Amino acid sequence: MDTMDNFDVTIIGAGVTGCFIAKELSKYKLKVLVVEKEPTQAMGPTKGCSGIIHAFQLPFNSLKGKLCLEGNRLMDEEAKELGFRFKRVGLILVARSILATLIAKLIKFYFSRYVEVEYLSKEEIRKLEPNVGKIKGGLFFPNGGVVNPVEMTFKARRFAEINGVEFRFERKVVEIKNGTRNGRRKGEYEIVLESCEGDKETEVISSNFIINCAGLYADEIAAMVGDRFEITPGKGSHIVFEDKSFSSHLMAAIPLIPERRTKGGGSLVTIDGNLIWGPNLVDIKDKEDRSVKKEEVDGLIRKHSKIFSKLPEKAISVYAGVRAIVGKDFIINSPVKNFINVAGIQSPGLTAAPAIAKLALRMLKDMGLELKKKEEVKTEVTPKTLKTPKTLKTETKSNKGDLICHCRLVYSEEIEEVIEEGARTLDDIKHLTGATMECGRCLPDVLGLMDRKGVKLRKDTCNSYIVWKD
Ligand SMILES: Cc1cc2nc3c(=O)[nH]c(=O)nc-3n(C[C@H](O)[C@H](O)[C@H](O)COP(=O)(O)OP(=O)(O)OC[C@H]3O[C@@H](n4cnc5c(N)ncnc54)[C@H](O)[C@@H]3O)c2cc1C
Repeated sequence: MDTMDNFDVTIIGAGVTGCFIAKELSKYKLKVLVVEKEPTQAMGPTKGCSGIIHAFQLPFNSLKGKLCLEGNRLMDEEAKELGFRFKRVGLILVARSILATLIAKLIKFYFSRYVEVEYLSKEEIRKLEPNVGKIKGGLFFPNGGVVNPVEMTFKARRFAEINGVEFRFERKVVEIKNGTRNGRRKGEYEIVLESCEGDKETEVISSNFIINCAGLYADEIAAMVGDRFEITPGKGSHIVFEDKSFSSHLMAAIPLIPERRTKGGGSLVTIDGNLIWGPNLVDIKDKEDRSVKKEEVDGLIRKHSKIFSKLPEKAISVYAGVRAIVGKDFIINSPVKNFINVAGIQSPGLTAAPAIAKLALRMLKDMGLELKKKEEVKTEVTPKTLKTPKTLKTETKSNKGDLICHCRLVYSEEIEEVIEEGARTLDDIKHLTGATMECGRCLPDVLGLMDRKGVKLRKDTCNSYIVWKD
């Protein structure tokens, strides 16, 4: 008897795009599988990104430009539906010279057809950002926002899971074959999955449609069906500062000569209010190189300190992510039957993810997949939006167990809840509850709780590697 699992759609990769496509597909009567080689969602570029919901992406008429605007527009609704934190903190582009002020006025004239933007005087900017340095004026884009990318992706995964999508973690796609066997066709494709848990055992599943959301490795997946393109990795490093009152907007200087390959990074804020400077763009050979070199830290400080009149006091961490670059735009196409590439999803892929998911669904429909809505879709994605320390302070300790993390006021029951809801690694717990995020003294207690709840300890603490090389 043939016992091979058969799926309508298989998504390769549980980064932000894979999880948002899974979330959209979970609303339909379909058998959907997500295969991910890592132990949990968002462990690749999605985790190493800056967490910015970009107000715009140039050129406006490119695929990424259009999907960025649409994703930004959809974000309030997504945050509400899935229960992740999203703040429209606003982007300020400062003009530091008379020439930059002229450029700002031209930008406003051209951009205002696509995105909300206003010109601010230097006094108005100083009111919003008291630590700003010598400036002449600038532009304000109210739609720029911030999220925690791990939290956002986890919530999309959970929505998909509670609505029946299957996630197989620690399974790597190693081969894709035509689905006809002994003259009988089950699905369009057979997909060979290899276990990443040491034994390297393989299993074969069949699927009618495949969506390639494999990030840095999307070129290898595409090659399995005979499609050719090359992903060149581009590393982006960040510095995270302790300061939560230094600056409250996304800020960058108006460049006199724009950089061709990157938006240039900026002085950013996290959803928790910490200041971040970055990312830069460094060409690398190894797709897994997430080291942050001393000269990169120096470069980021040199570049972004120019916006301010003083330096932030204390850096608490550095981290890097690796962009999956193929040419100048996203590659969202169907090179062969029933197969969709969602590849080359560099910035602003986090912003665009909800719009990419809707586009992928339209493509599946055009390719003949029948999309019948389920009568009932579960929307109660728990744990609900994380409580901020401010709201937690007003709550009593009694019904939350023991206080585990004193910096973020996280209680044992909250950690247990996210484990019960599918947190699979220490990093999941860190991003979903805030525990271990700051001084790290609660780490042994969190590890103890994970052990008691049967969560396997993995080498995943974070993707911050400090490599000081002079
Ligand atoms: C430094 C940096 C900063 C950024 N900042 C922003 C930002 O502020 N705002 C914004 O909008 N965008 C930003 N981006 C872009 C954004 O992070 C990406 O566009 C987005 O995360 C891409 O998501 P993805 O799901 O396509 O890919 P990924 O996150 O790469 O996910 C792909 C997944 O596929 C899995 N996989 C790969 N091969 C296989 C296989 N053979 N079998 C099974 N699984 C496999 C991987 O393990 C991975 O989990 C930034 C990117 C970087 C690098």
